[in-house]
Amino acid sequence: MALLAATGCSSAVSQPDGNTNVDAGSTPDAGGSSDAGLVPDSGPPAAHRSFPPMPHTGNKLLSSMTLVTLVASNDGDLTTLFQFSDDLIGGSWFSAATAEYGVAPVAQSIHVTGPAITANMTNAQLIAYIQNATTTAAPPNGNTLYLLYLPAGIQVTGAFFCAYHEPYPSLATTEGDGWAVVTRCTPYKGGEMALEAVTRVASHEIAEAATDPAGATYTFGVTPAQPWTESVWRSYEQEGHVEVGDLCEGTRIIIPSGDGGWDFQRIWSNDSATDGGDPCSPPQAEPYFNVSVPQDWYAGTSGGTVTIPLAGWSIGSRGNWLLDTHLINGSSVFLAQTSSFWATGSQLGAITLGTACFAYTGMNNGVSGTLTVNIPSAAAAGDWAVLSIDSFEEDPSTWYAPVDRDDYHFWLVGVYLP
Ligand SMILES: [Zn+2]
Repeated sequence: MALLAATGCSSAVSQPDGNTNVDAGSTPDAGGSSDAGLVPDSGPPAAHRSFPPMPHTGNKLLSSMTLVTLVASNDGDLTTLFQFSDDLIGGSWFSAATAEYGVAPVAQSIHVTGPAITANMTNAQLIAYIQNATTTAAPPNGNTLYLLYLPAGIQVTGAFFCAYHEPYPSLATTEGDGWAVVTRCTPYKGGEMALEAVTRVASHEIAEAATDPAGATYTFGVTPAQPWTESVWRSYEQEGHVEVGDLCEGTRIIIPSGDGGWDFQRIWSNDSATDGGDPCSPPQAEPYFNVSVPQDWYAGTSGGTVTIPLAGWSIGSRGNWLLDTHLINGSSVFLAQTSSFWATGSQLGAITLGTACFAYTGMNNGVSGTLTVNIPSAAAAGDWAVLSIDSFEEDPSTWYAPVDRDDYHFWLVGVYLP
């Protein structure tokens, strides 16, 4: 449901609950790969676990939705943001992101210009703003998404995320409609433009609203009380539901023909995830790369060390990439840690991809490594943490991922104290 920020000559992000190795074979070139067309007969991908399917918990979708784009009159990008919505109707991205979940293309794009917004607003004020601006122009029909952009510099007071979606007008009173707010989320470094970040983030929320308008359709739900008893992917978010946009955070694609050349996020695909390759759709031209670890969760002790094996895999031969690991969720003791309590290493050691870049743990298809987690001594039984192992690459000229490629890919692993 969310959006944070990411990487550079310095950064990057995660894993599933399947217990089977998808692309079978510890031997890289085992024949009979089911990823026809994605995987060469020899070479990559190295053995790795499969990604988890996004659970299907209900049937409500925003199929053939009415997309109402609401932009404040003082937003300098007003006409551009309207155009982005119009291009969704005729473009390929929306279907690539949502068709496998049963969502038919956007049926109608309605533009509404709202009153100027000059100060931060609360969630309740946003809902009232939408109601006031659309009651006559575009009343709810049970299948509408109200997409509200906030002008540059305006935030949602108290919001954990820079963009999110909810049932409209509330979970208790919705007749099926949804609303989303998108602020000026921070662009990825390396040259992504402010407006590219806005449309990328908007696309994330549109796909999630279409597939999970009320938090009860395609979603892992929220972090469980005892996260280690369930898929680690359920515990990706500190707040909100884990949905089809979230597990592909870090990805992006610019689609020229028919989609207007906008920057979109790629979206979680159950079809692709179970194939064992790139889990995000539409596919990128560049061979997908990531790491995996053998288990979702590893038990540890207060003050003890947990050593977790990891291994790199890519769906095609490619150059080295880098690892950077982040704490992405956890109990309060873990979230309160002010410095890293983990380290990675690999057969490649610490490497750089460009002159003057920082060194990170190097990775490639078939390369093995280790994530070492030093459990804080303050942690006690019931405490837990989810780490995101980010795989990323750097363009030596910018020190960041090229803007026409994914910014990072992630694999999740959890540690807990029984
Ligand atoms: Zn999301």
